[in-house]
Formats: sequence, C-alpha cells, structure tokens
Amino acid sequence: MDELREDCGVFGIWNNADAARLTYLGLYALQHRGQESAGIAISDGSKLYSYKQMGYVNDVFNEHILSMLHGKYAIGHVRYSTYGASELRNAQPFAVEYKNGSLAIAHNGNIVNYEGIRSRLEGEGSIFQSTMDTEVIVHLIAKSDGPSTHERLAYALNELRGAYSLVVLTENELIAARDPNGFRPLVIGELNGSMVFASETCALDLIGARYVRDVLAGEMIVVTNNGMRSYLFSHRIQRASQCIFEHIYFARPDSLIFGKSVYSIRRALGKALGAESSVQADMVIPVPDSGVPAAVGFSQQTGIPFQMALIRNHYVGRTFIQPRQSIRDFNVKVKLNPIAEVIAGKRIIIIDDSIVRGTTSRTLVKMLRDSGAKEVHMRISSPPINYSCYYGIDTPTRAELISSSHTVQEIRDFIGADSLEYLSIDALRGVVGEDADNFCYACFTGNYPEPFELTKRDHQLILFDEGRLNVRP
Ligand code: AMP
Repeated sequence: MDELREDCGVFGIWNNADAARLTYLGLYALQHRGQESAGIAISDGSKLYSYKQMGYVNDVFNEHILSMLHGKYAIGHVRYSTYGASELRNAQPFAVEYKNGSLAIAHNGNIVNYEGIRSRLEGEGSIFQSTMDTEVIVHLIAKSDGPSTHERLAYALNELRGAYSLVVLTENELIAARDPNGFRPLVIGELNGSMVFASETCALDLIGARYVRDVLAGEMIVVTNNGMRSYLFSHRIQRASQCIFEHIYFARPDSLIFGKSVYSIRRALGKALGAESSVQADMVIPVPDSGVPAAVGFSQQTGIPFQMALIRNHYVGRTFIQPRQSIRDFNVKVKLNPIAEVIAGKRIIIIDDSIVRGTTSRTLVKMLRDSGAKEVHMRISSPPINYSCYYGIDTPTRAELISSSHTVQEIRDFIGADSLEYLSIDALRGVVGEDADNFCYACFTGNYPEPFELTKRDHQLILFDEGRLNVRP
C-alpha cells in the first residue's frame, strides 16, 4: 500500500521559455516522492526567483504564481522530510545569496555525515537557517575558494558521505550531480533542445521529453548557454549501491529507474515469489497500488487467477477529518475497502511489496476474514526489512521494524494469516540480474555500503564528456 511518507523528488530544466510550467508538471509527476512541500527556483539569466510552500504541488502553485516565475532555467523539488522537521524553512529549493551570486539547490537523499560537518561549520562561525542536511552543501560551496560554481560544488560534494541526487541553479548555470554510490536515481532528458533532469522518467514522460540516460554515480553535469560538460568529481573506487527499494516500493511503476522498468522488475519479483512460495488458492489479490505488478507476476507464474478485491480510494489527503468515535482500523479502511462478493468463501493469496511495522497487513488480513475469506495467505515481494535506511528512505527505527525482532512465524501470528512468506534475497538479486552487485540491500541485510575513502586525486574534476548528451556509461 502507498503511504504518505517518502523521500524527495527533484527536477531541473535548462533553456525553455515555459520552464516554470514544465517544472510544475515535472513535480506533479513526482508527487509520490514527497507530499510535504513543493518549490520552484527559476532564473531569467540575471536573477533568481523562488517560491515554495507546504502542501501538494497542485495546492502550492497556481496560474498566478507560475506567471510570476520568469525565466528559462528552473529547478524544483517535492519534499518528504527524511532529515529535518516538517516546516517551511526546511522546504526546497534552498536558495541563498553569497559572495559569488545567487544559488538554489534541490536535493534527494540523506547525507550521513551531516551532523559532523554542521558542527564543524558552526564552530567556524557559520549560522544555519534550517535543520536540513542540504544546507551544509550551500555552506561548503560558500567556503570554497574554487574559481567556478561547479568547482566549488565539487569541493563541497567531496566532503559529503551518503546519498545525494541534486540539481543546483545559479543565474546562468544548471548543475546536476549524483553521489559516488549512486544511491538515489537521477535521469537526463531532452525536450526540443532543452536539457531536463528528473528523479524519475515519469516526469520526462509527462512533459514529452526524451530519456537520454542516467546521471552516473559520481558524475556532475554542468549546463550553460555554451553547452553542457560532464565531469567525474569522484572516482568510484568500488561498486555503486543503488537503492533496491526504489524498485520494490518507492518509484512509480511507469518509470525507468537505474535504466530498468520498475513495472517489469516488480512483476518479475512477483513471479519469483510465485515460484518460491505458492500455495493452493482460488485467487491472487494485490494490496493496491504498490502490490499490483507483483500480484500480476505471481498470478502469471502460478496460474492462480488475479482479482482486485481491495479497492483504493485515491483521494485521501494527508490530513483527513477523523470520526469523533473511533472506528476500528479507520486509517487503513479509509484507503482500502474490500469487496465482500469477491472474497466470501475463497482461499486468498494477498500480495504486498513489503511489511514495515506489520499494522497494514494485520488490518488487511482481518478485513478479508471479516468479508468471509476462507483462507488468507500473505506473500511479500521483498525480503524482511530488518534494518533502518540511512540513505533517504523513510524507514522507522529498528525497534519499530517488526522483522528486526520477530521471526516469520511470529509475524504470521501477529498479522493473523494462515501463512506468510517473503521473497528470498537470492531471488531478489536474481531478478535484478547482472546488475545485482550494484545495488544496496542494507535494509534487508544490514550490510551498509562503505563510505567512500577519497584520495587527493578525487578532488580534481575529470572532464568526462563535452557537448554530447548521448554518451553511454
Ligand atoms: P506497515 O503497516 O508499517 O507494515 O506498512 C506496510 C505498508 O507500507 C506496505 O503496504 C508498503 O507498501 C508500505 N511501505 C513500505 N515502505 C514504505 C515507506 N518507506 N514509506 C511508506 N510506506 C511504505
């Protein structure tokens, strides 16, 4: 099931007369990555303007506001707070004036050494405006004496450890960069000669842009009116560790993430789950929306018919008015309603992408039983989540993760299912195929990717490509 707690989405566009509107649309397509705040920063070539507010993209922007955002160069951000409180001063893009001009930054991911850098900078006299990890990047840029924005940014990025996919806008340049581990996605698109960056390809699709390729792990792309240049700002001295959870739950199924179709991966996970742990049943049903592709795959693999027995209300906002008297399981019920006619008397396999605390599964199993299900078998298209994520996925603390302290049997008893099975880590790796070693599985295994040890050489920017967008890694 999709809950309203996720990380962030970023978007950037260079040289388009309709930059503000296209950024708005890009953010609209990325809304699933964060519903807390939305913002756009735009440049007309000599000055930066920005606007951000708490709320959904559609609530934050209207015709009037967009018409006041002048310029052909823009970045945008949708936020869910993975670090920092939920308040306007933490909304992005984060825009500042500093000795070298104006700068705005939009960031997705978590910087794991943020606190150390912040206290060091505060010790040196820096004054912070927000509680966001992103702000340290701006302070580091301001402290650098590099001769250009991208060199100052490279200096800043080489201080950071952890996850960042970011877009940076000044009066006359747009820069996109992805951390050397490549934790979070970031893609390059092209729209009638305008360059576009986005967290996911679904944002390119909406504005009619062509997907060119991913920004590479450790790559920085600088776009100015003189064209684009790509630099490697960090040598990848080990493998990438792209977030597997983007494929499992996070990203939209119509996106390509890390070059692969999210829908196809999810369906393949369902097939693998069907091969590993099928059971006699009358139907396979998904927990909509995120469990749908896996349930399709499970049904295709096992031949057990697919049915939609839980219907999702798509119009539930972040805050809805609660009933005065408590209604049992209200929070899940307001989103998902069972169809008793489909369920009564049937043996059901219910597929979800993951179990976090276990409360959703428990409620759904009960709902199905109340609707007359004869048997309820829960199947999960990923391994048990045993460890918290420090790289930008909002998982709760370890203690709250039910699998960190309970066996599968105990979880089965807690959720009240007749059986419960998870996908194995080997099957998960098998689905990702030859790329399996380039993913982070820390939420399942506890093997957190090593922070990069940087050498002096890493501080130099290596020109990787000039002017040709289509270069492949
Ligand atoms: P829970 O009730 O805590 O076990 O939550 C499980 C549900 O949350 C599943 O239906 C998942 O699709 C969904 N889910 C998994 N990871 C996340 C996440 N990081 N943020 C929001 N929802 C999630």
